[in-house]
Amino acid sequence: TEEILLKSEKVSLIGDLAAGIAHEIRNPLTSIAGLVQLINESDHEKNTFFKDIILTEINRINFIVSELMVLAKPHAVYFSWFNIVDSIQNVIDLMQPEANLRNVIISFEKANMPLVYGEKNQLTQVIINMIKNAMEALPDGGEISLAATSVDGHVVLSVKDNGLGMTEEQQKRIGEPFYTTKFNGTGLGLMVCFKIIQNHGGSIVVDSKLNEGTSFMITLPVHATSEVDPVLK
Ligand code: ADP
Ligand code: MG
Repeated sequence: TEEILLKSEKVSLIGDLAAGIAHEIRNPLTSIAGLVQLINESDHEKNTFFKDIILTEINRINFIVSELMVLAKPHAVYFSWFNIVDSIQNVIDLMQPEANLRNVIISFEKANMPLVYGEKNQLTQVIINMIKNAMEALPDGGEISLAATSVDGHVVLSVKDNGLGMTEEQQKRIGEPFYTTKFNGTGLGLMVCFKIIQNHGGSIVVDSKLNEGTSFMITLPVHATSEVDPVLK
């Protein structure tokens, strides 16, 4: 078990993040530029092949940008009291079809919960990112168990899977911008989660064992942010 001190030292390094984004976006751009040149000089069959790669690269840039969008505050960041159990259930309902395809069983154990004061879209995004990761850690299917409880002034959410798990080394690096072990990963999902939970005055703890599974535990103050002007957040 390793406590992640919210990686504040990592997520606050805007310069590192900017450098990472620049790098991750320049790679596909360079490849697109090169391929466009080749299109002038090639036959139809090759051109079709190049166009496919160009589309893939454009989609990758698009994907990176949309992963970051949730932090970029394109819309007003709006803190409100809301029912987080309902939000989690909505995410599960949304992901159920994909879970079925992947032979993944999702369960959700919910206690009577207080409302939470927070940014509903952002906190929903945290749940989405965590369930997505859990699903991707279950290539041959398995179980994802979610739970929500409340303990004196805090809500505790957990997302647990019995999938690939992580080495100690991996656990140390998760949440670093662009750290990914996946062929098509962006390595932005957890960075975004850590940042959002940090903005809410909460914390994330990870517990993982290679080839056994992983659990993430998110603790959120029920109303710690209510005294702060949400605009400042
Ligand atoms: P991505 O999913 O694009 O790789 P994330 O930031 O969401 O980026 O995750 C970073 C890395 O953390 C993953 O590549 C994986 O190695 C590890 N990871 C995250 N969640 C899990 C999980 N539930 N089980 C195993 N490994 C995980
Ligand atoms: Mg992810």
